[in-house]
Amino acid sequence: MSTALHAWLRYTLALCSHYSGLDGLYRRLSGSGLVILMLHRLREDHDPYPLSVSRGQLRQLVTWLRARSALVGLDDGLQALLPERVQRVHYALTFDDGYRDNLGLIDANLGPVPAVVYVATGHIGGEPIWAYRLVHAVESRSREQLDLGGLGLGHFDLSLADDRHRLYELLPPRLKLLEPAELEAWVDHVCEQARPRPLPHEDREMLEWSDVRRLADRGIEIGGHTCSHAILSRLDDAAASEEIGLSHASIVAALGSAPRHFAYPNGGREDFGERDVRLVRDAGFVTATTSIEGVNRPGADPFRLLRFNVHENRFRAPSGRLSKALFFSETSGMLGWLRELRTA
Ligand SMILES: [Zn+2]
Repeated sequence: MSTALHAWLRYTLALCSHYSGLDGLYRRLSGSGLVILMLHRLREDHDPYPLSVSRGQLRQLVTWLRARSALVGLDDGLQALLPERVQRVHYALTFDDGYRDNLGLIDANLGPVPAVVYVATGHIGGEPIWAYRLVHAVESRSREQLDLGGLGLGHFDLSLADDRHRLYELLPPRLKLLEPAELEAWVDHVCEQARPRPLPHEDREMLEWSDVRRLADRGIEIGGHTCSHAILSRLDDAAASEEIGLSHASIVAALGSAPRHFAYPNGGREDFGERDVRLVRDAGFVTATTSIEGVNRPGADPFRLLRFNVHENRFRAPSGRLSKALFFSETSGMLGWLRELRTA
């Protein structure tokens, strides 16, 4: 089935289920739930990766959730899953990595918003995470030719929009397969070839520690996300322990209080294991989120919390606008349940 047709069918199904009350009914019948939304960036300009929403889109989501009194902090949302509590579905907001645009959480006329910002502490006040080092290398390049034959991806002419698009599509998934040091070496190699102009300080991508403190002072919870954003399952025991322990210690040193929440980098089933769950718990964190999709139900493992990835294209109607029907019918868990039925 073509992608456009598929998107249109999904939208129609969402409209039917939302406006007929079916997804609301499903939500009530399926009992208590905590939907954790995983966001990354608040950007107004184009992001080549599906990792951004605009401030306007965030305001829209927050408005919908507040209208249902459904927006809560992560701790309150987990408390509400306890058996003696009224059966309801709550929503919590989380932001990964520590991008400076997350300051929009306190600057975007949202009022106080409960949210967790998970920071990769080694990137605070420093270089962006490799995926955005690549974007910077490409967007601020002073050379157009890029040879990635060594990765089996061939040659790119960065003066061509098609080639740049192809690069963003092919290179990150290829790099994610590599060991952390090898991955960074390839990003360095791209930078050496593209020779990007240095990024002015005001355009820096990541939060500084002073920004992190500003967020914390305004009630945003700061969580851990390792130090270097390495995928934990690729690391030996000592390195994994150091990544997790250092991220915890750096936040304590900067804020004077211990972080409670952690998010596994990349967060897929293959990106962390039993050992990492134990290390995160031993470091002092009390929850950990994944990027595995689903609604958290009573009895959910607090160190394997599910999340829905939210970005500008995720809940978009064919008109291009953020769709309330798509958002609520996807995150009620009903569309996922229907998909499971279909593939069962
Ligand atoms: Zn991340």
